[in-house]
Amino acid sequence: MLIGIDLGTTNSLVACFRNGKAEIIPNRLGENLTPSVVSVDSKGTVYVGRSAKERAMLHPLESASVFKRSMGTDREYVLGGWKLRAEELSSLVLRSLKEDAESYLGQPVTDAIISVPAYFNDLQRKATKRAGELAGLNVVRIINEPTAAAIAHGMMEQKDSRYLVFDLGGGTFDVSILELYNPIMEVHAIAGDNFIGGEDFTDVLYNLFLESAGIAPENLDLKTRSEIRKNAENCKCAFSHSNEVMMCCAVNGQMHILRLSFEEYERACAPLLDRLRKPIERSLRDAGVSLNEIDQIVLVGGATRSPVVRKFVAKLFGRIPSFGINPDEAVAIGAALQCGMKSRD
Ligand code: ADP
Ligand code: MG
Repeated sequence: MLIGIDLGTTNSLVACFRNGKAEIIPNRLGENLTPSVVSVDSKGTVYVGRSAKERAMLHPLESASVFKRSMGTDREYVLGGWKLRAEELSSLVLRSLKEDAESYLGQPVTDAIISVPAYFNDLQRKATKRAGELAGLNVVRIINEPTAAAIAHGMMEQKDSRYLVFDLGGGTFDVSILELYNPIMEVHAIAGDNFIGGEDFTDVLYNLFLESAGIAPENLDLKTRSEIRKNAENCKCAFSHSNEVMMCCAVNGQMHILRLSFEEYERACAPLLDRLRKPIERSLRDAGVSLNEIDQIVLVGGATRSPVVRKFVAKLFGRIPSFGINPDEAVAIGAALQCGMKSRD
């Protein structure tokens, strides 16, 4: 059996092509997203996904995240007594996804198509392939994330067209301009910022909360800090369906509350939104196209669920981007569609 994998910086997903369609495979917890986090305890027990993400808050020295940024380098992460490189950490995530797929599908999974950022060089692609092999997967193809997202949005079914893929994940921002000269799809230009993403939008709330409570961050213990951050993340996501959020956290036995309207939050995010502008301009310039020559804007990445980001994109491009597919599932769906094409050849 062949599966498609979106091995993300923040979250990873596995999907397959069955009964004529692409299907996201939920993990053992029933969730579509598996955090790309690994944690190892003193007994050597390995945690992957949500349990590792939760463990990481209290045991940061035994945990690793955002290791995708170091893919293809010799950097070693020390987790308790263990030393692991990014490809080894990634292989643990891949193995977990493989096992989840096997128990969901009720059959062994042998092959995989894995997506990587369009800017990944040869070393980074080879490291991704090796991570797959370490997880017991035969990696039959590496596919570019924006290409996968565009496939998920039906690009292959169209006449020749041009897409701009706006991918804002947890800690990275990638803009790609794709052109389809059927049946060939080309990545025409790529630009981005490897150090901005949804986590920065969480930090905005986190900092607003501390400011309003009059607490200096250095006076917080690890547990309180991670509770406030978790709360900030929940509130950030709550803006997707409400105009006002309320953050409540106890700090040193005292309850602090922050009420925030969407407009106030949006204003506080302005410097972040500003940083998204440059890569977009650069990608258009490099591709030698103007905005009105782009046929479709595709939103990818969990952070584009945010109404702050959606409003910004709509205003910047002067049109409504395409919806229909969950932005954090598009890459995995595209990889699964590629699985379907591969099996049919
Ligand atoms: P990556 O591609 O980096 O693995 P994802 O595409 O899964 O990451 O995006 C993860 C980010 O999306 C996180 O920062 C998360 O908080 C953010 N996110 C998810 N849902 C929402 C939402 N409803 N509103 C705002 N941000 C969201
Ligand atoms: Mg992603």
